[in-house]
Amino acid sequence: MVNSPVLERDSVIHILVVEDEPSLCQLLVNNLTFEGYSVAAAGDGVPGLAAHAARRADLIVLDLMLPQMDGFAVLKSLRDRRDEVPVLMLTARGEETDRLQGLSLGADDYLVKPFSVLELIARVKAILRRTRPVDHPPLLRSGPFRFDLPRLEAKREGRMLELTPREFRILEILITHPGRTHSRKEVLQLAWEPDARPSARTVDVHIANLRRKLGEETGAPWIATVGGEGYRWVTSVETDPL
Ligand code: CA
Repeated sequence: MVNSPVLERDSVIHILVVEDEPSLCQLLVNNLTFEGYSVAAAGDGVPGLAAHAARRADLIVLDLMLPQMDGFAVLKSLRDRRDEVPVLMLTARGEETDRLQGLSLGADDYLVKPFSVLELIARVKAILRRTRPVDHPPLLRSGPFRFDLPRLEAKREGRMLELTPREFRILEILITHPGRTHSRKEVLQLAWEPDARPSARTVDVHIANLRRKLGEETGAPWIATVGGEGYRWVTSVETDPL
């Protein structure tokens, strides 16, 4: 059974990408569309603001360096008129002070180029979970498990599982994309800090611990090992009405 990403089911969340590099812009549009979002794109600040005025975005992916009106100016323009639309700022390496300035101006998060698309998608989802909790119900159910993502809680038949934050993060990556295989490399990119990446073998060790804590040895496998590729959550996942 193939599931679509559960957190975005029936979603009409609209995302605006403001990025002047055509290939990167297209890549982001394609992947966000694939995730089920409605997506608009602009190549500079002024057309970006115009696109947002024409159809209000629920989140803006905003490149910092743009040809004429840069990301800071766009962000400032938004915040100056009390528009609190969530903004994920894209910066290039070497713009460390710019990053901090961006956050102080009211960006919700930032990503340093080059980044993986999966990392971007994960950040987008994290921001949307914070800002649109109604569209992103925090409680998920799968088989005998219940997951409370914001609280980092996982229960099996009412019993709390003692997971480390890292194990929970790996579990979150798998259960929010049920049926999709994640390579070890993807898991490393999504669950570890960018500058502290251990070996792929470390992922296997964490998965083994996770399986033990989920209680796989006593019953059905929840996390499948897919050839030499990676791992996937095999059971369907449903949102749990509050
Ligand atoms: Ca740029």
